[in-house]
Amino acid sequence: MAFLKRSPWILHYDASSCNGCDIEVLACLTPLYDVERFGIINTGNPKHADILMITGGINEQNREVVKNIYEQMPEPKVVVAIGVCAASGGIFRECYNIVGGVDKVIPVDVYVPGCAARPEMIIDGVVTALGILEEKREKMTGAAQTKESARRAAGEST
Ligand code: SF4
Repeated sequence: MAFLKRSPWILHYDASSCNGCDIEVLACLTPLYDVERFGIINTGNPKHADILMITGGINEQNREVVKNIYEQMPEPKVVVAIGVCAASGGIFRECYNIVGGVDKVIPVDVYVPGCAARPEMIIDGVVTALGILEEKREKMTGAAQTKESARRAAGEST
């Protein structure tokens, strides 16, 4: 199977943020920061998403939702945790219902620091995520080609 290069699709999920980081994510889509110049498309469907951007920490209510979103995304996929809440629970980490950062429930590839994370840092995180996504795509393509070569070799020898 070939993993075609195409515009990366991003899904943004607000776990339990104060909305400070969400406002900065929205700012990235405005003409001032114009994150779409990287060919990125915003999607609301996890089945179409390559990159999951999460703001806010994980709590008892959203932990299963976050896992579910992640599991619906096709491989290869990259997760970007935006802001200190997504990294560790941030200022809410001592709250009774907070589990912690996003990596308590799913693997995180990129951490964007800040409270709130600044648009420039978010864009930097997205660019890093694009590089990781490409690496993962190449690995999958290489693995698929190796498997196909082995299959053909086995077919030729029988
Ligand atoms: S990191 Fe700061 S701005 Fe972002 S969700 Fe947490 S408290 Fe709000």
